[in-house]
This record gives sequence, C-alpha cells and structure tokens, in this order.
Amino acid sequence: MLNKARSRIVSLVISLCFLLVSHSVLAAQISSADFQRVVDGAYKKFKDLKEGANANYIPILDTVPSDLFGVVIATRDGKIYSAGETRYEFSIQSVSKPFTASLIMAQQGPRAIREKIGVEPTGLPFNSRLALEIYDSRSVNPSVNAGAIAAVSLVKADSEKDRWNQVNGNIEAYAGRKLKVLEEVYDSEYETAWGNRAIANLLYNYERLYSDPEEALRVYTRQCSIGINTKDLAIMGATLANEGTNPITGKKVLNSEHVPELLAIMAATGFYDESGEWMYSAGLPSKTGVGGGIVAVVPGQFAIATFSPRLNPAGNSIRGMKAIQFIAGELGVGLYGPNKGE
Ligand code: GLN
Repeated sequence: MLNKARSRIVSLVISLCFLLVSHSVLAAQISSADFQRVVDGAYKKFKDLKEGANANYIPILDTVPSDLFGVVIATRDGKIYSAGETRYEFSIQSVSKPFTASLIMAQQGPRAIREKIGVEPTGLPFNSRLALEIYDSRSVNPSVNAGAIAAVSLVKADSEKDRWNQVNGNIEAYAGRKLKVLEEVYDSEYETAWGNRAIANLLYNYERLYSDPEEALRVYTRQCSIGINTKDLAIMGATLANEGTNPITGKKVLNSEHVPELLAIMAATGFYDESGEWMYSAGLPSKTGVGGGIVAVVPGQFAIATFSPRLNPAGNSIRGMKAIQFIAGELGVGLYGPNKGE
C-alpha cells in the first residue's frame, strides 16, 4: 500500500519535472529573432484595421489619433522588441488597476484584496452600478471601477497628497521611470465623472469604501490619467513576468509570493465581461484600458503591450487584442498550452 503510494508520488514528481523542463526548454527556444518577428508580424497584420472607435464618454479620449498603433515585448531580463508607435504617451486608464491592487497586496497582503474588495468576475461592464447592487462584496474585484476606487481608498494615507504619492510612486516603480499626469485627461474625466462618483458614494454607503469618497474618486481619476507609452506598459508587465522585480531598475515592487494572486485577478477579470472570451482565445493574464492600452503577461518569461485607441463595445482595444492573440498563438505561450480558440 505504502509502496504503491510512494511509487505514485515518485511518478508524479517525475512528470512534474518533465513538464517544468519541457516548459523551460520551450521558453529557451524563443530567440531574439522570434520575438522581433512576431512583433513585426502583429504590427503588419493589423496596422490597417479600422474597426471600433475611440472611447468618447471621457470627451478628450475621442481626440487621440485613432490610427496610432504600437506593439512591444519586454522580457524578464529587460530586452525590448518593438514595432510601430512606442513613444506616444496615452492615458493608462484601467491598465493601472491591477498595479494599485498590487500596492494594497504589498502593504496589507492578498487577504485584504479578497476581504475588502473581492476577486470574482462581475460578468458586467467595467462601470456597472448593477454589479454593486447584486453582489454582496459590492466592489466585486479590483479590475472594475468600483473595485479600483476601493483599492485607492484602501491605501493607508494621512492626506490626499500622501495617497496620491503612494499610488503614483508604485506605478512609476513598475514603469521604471518618472511619469506625468496628462492634466487635460484628468480634467476631462473628473468634470464628467458622475457615474464613478455615484459608485464611490454607493460603496461608502455599503461600508466598502475606506476613505472619503470624493478623495478616492480624485486619486483614482488621477491614477487613470497617468501618461505612459507602449514601452512603459511592456516594462510594467515584464516586472510581473519577472516575479515582481523591475527588469530595468532591479527594484523589487511586489513580493514574488504575491505575483500569482495578482495574475489570477488579471486572468479572471482583466477584460471585464469579456474575460472568459479572452482566456479562451489568448490564454494570458492581461489588463486593458479605455485609453487603448493592453498589457499581457507570460508568467516567468515576458510581457506583451499594445496601444491602439479604437475599442470594441466592452471597452477593449481591438487591434491590441488581435496583436496579442497573434503573438501568443505564434509563440505558443498561452497559460494552458497553445490556444486555438480563435
Ligand atoms: N478612468 C476610466 C473610468 O473610470 C477607466 C475605465 C477603463 O479603462 N475601462 O471610466
């Protein structure tokens, strides 16, 4: 009996080792030339695609040149491969959300995310007020507006300035450089933020917001207005691929033991009510934003970032999605094996 159990364990260990070895052999097989080939290939294949439209519920986002398109891969050892527009600074928007969730994890542990925000997908749009009424957790997860405003409110701060400095400093640590808020984007969003204001107040009413609601709204809106380029976004993702250490600066931003929980949130909720569809077709933990950015993480290996302002109705960048699906498919790096779910 004991021997049988032991031999089972031994064979399990052997097959696990085999899996690990085959995985790292696979990782090692991706050469610089391969990375550049898929980045160029994705850019070429989708650059002329005009489907979708800029976000316009934040008026200024409608003025961003829609044809801009950038694709960047950053590896866990800091190598960069890029095609198209990689220097244009666009607003980070919801791509910022998992990174602020990471700040809460770093300061208070992953349990705070589960207990004070939630980790379930909503199955509803990112700005849903309905989700807040039908789920007991109210904020539901850090990728939707409610959960992201709650995350900002959870930062332990003694003033609004302190709260902002911590949120901004954390995103800068992920990007590996000083970043600027796009003040026009901030003004445009804050002046029209009635829906998010309602969300902040409702959360406060349900005791699921942990600071003054208007302060949380302002800091959240500023966070969404941070200007980044496609390369910054790739480095932010590569920091997660590199177990929480920025590959360019060498700074540890998140403890490696918390990276799996953060990536799990991105996989389950990063595309809102399209998250299932996304994992089906690309198989990578990712986050999108209405500014047109997407970052996808291949754990332990590299990140893919894209920028393209035209969105689908769920608020996700169409060319960005296609480019990442293409790259993930070409390199066969979907989390559960090479995805064929076109
Ligand atoms: N700042 C935006 C908002 O609150 C972020 C939404 C997004 O990128 N999906 O509506």
